[in-house]
Amino acid sequence: MITIAKPQIGQEEKNAVMDVMGSGMIACGSVVAEFEQKFADYVGMKYGIATTSGTTALEVALRALGIGAGDKVVTTAYSFIASTNSIVYTGATPIFADIDEGTFDIDIDSAEKCLKANPDAKALLVVHLFGQTCNMDAVMALAKKYDVKVIEDCAQAHGAMWKGRMAGSFGDASTFSFYPTKNMTTGEGGMVLTNDEKVADQAKLLINHGMKIRYTHDIVGYNYRMTNIAAAIGLEQLKKLDRFNDARREHAAAYAKAISNPNIVVPHVDDNAKHVYHQYTIRVLNGKRDELIKLFEENGVGYGIFYPFSIPEQPCYKGLGFKTEYEITDKIKKEVLSIPVHPGLSMEEIAIVAAVINQL
Ligand SMILES: *Cc1c(COP(=O)(O)O)cnc(C)c1O
Repeated sequence: MITIAKPQIGQEEKNAVMDVMGSGMIACGSVVAEFEQKFADYVGMKYGIATTSGTTALEVALRALGIGAGDKVVTTAYSFIASTNSIVYTGATPIFADIDEGTFDIDIDSAEKCLKANPDAKALLVVHLFGQTCNMDAVMALAKKYDVKVIEDCAQAHGAMWKGRMAGSFGDASTFSFYPTKNMTTGEGGMVLTNDEKVADQAKLLINHGMKIRYTHDIVGYNYRMTNIAAAIGLEQLKKLDRFNDARREHAAAYAKAISNPNIVVPHVDDNAKHVYHQYTIRVLNGKRDELIKLFEENGVGYGIFYPFSIPEQPCYKGLGFKTEYEITDKIKKEVLSIPVHPGLSMEEIAIVAAVINQL
């Protein structure tokens, strides 16, 4: 079986975890602080606030930026559910934009229509889907024009770039996930990055029961703290991140060369983007996706449909009054198929997957 994901945990991660275990300081402490600083430095942001997941990082980023009940946040209709759920947790309302057919990221014209129609919108939450950055020149220009905050959901884009600048270094805040299938992992975990000291302070309060002084609770906060155990894994993974991403990009290049089938569209990469291939997502045309899935199952090839539905048509949002039709999203969701691209693959496995695709 060639699996769709395979976390790369080496002896270094195991040793680092054992060191933390031996230290007795296993919850949130100095190892978390070191990971926050090193990860923020890597992306080129001032402050890092580690959390329990990418989802809690998103919620904290939104709240720390002042988003709350009654506010509106423009976001993409096509992503993992958490990018929208986090908006809903704060009491704000998501306004959905369609996606770009080439990159699957938020469509700038559609986002602008949403901002125009909702002049009271407070923020624009963009997702660098599958590891390819949005057009951040256009996103930041929109944010300036309509005076909204920008949150970058970088859960799939650790180390991705736009014009040589890191994903997560453009917005008012950015968030990352360290779930095991992502480009790097801490088991479960997340991070908020920002250059704004006030936002960082608020995020720190939010993740730790609103507590700066011991047992004085300034706001109603949460326990969203990362553990030293998770951070120890993260520090080792961060050292390997560029190598992991290089391997993903090599695998993607090999697929682009090897896949030759009129029913298949390989990922479009913008000239200005450094794609880090959290997923290698092909489009299967002419209604042949089920046929290819059958071939994958017969040949032991793992795959994923990210995602089969737009967010507003998910059962939890359907019927709540959100627009449910999106021209590009509704086409793409029926065509996408993600194939194994993780760093643990061999070139032989890549060739096997490509050969199965070419059989279609
Ligand atoms: C994985 C992911 C999240 C959530 O991260 P968790 O760590 O699983 O909570 C949010 N947004 C996107 C786009 C993701 O892929």
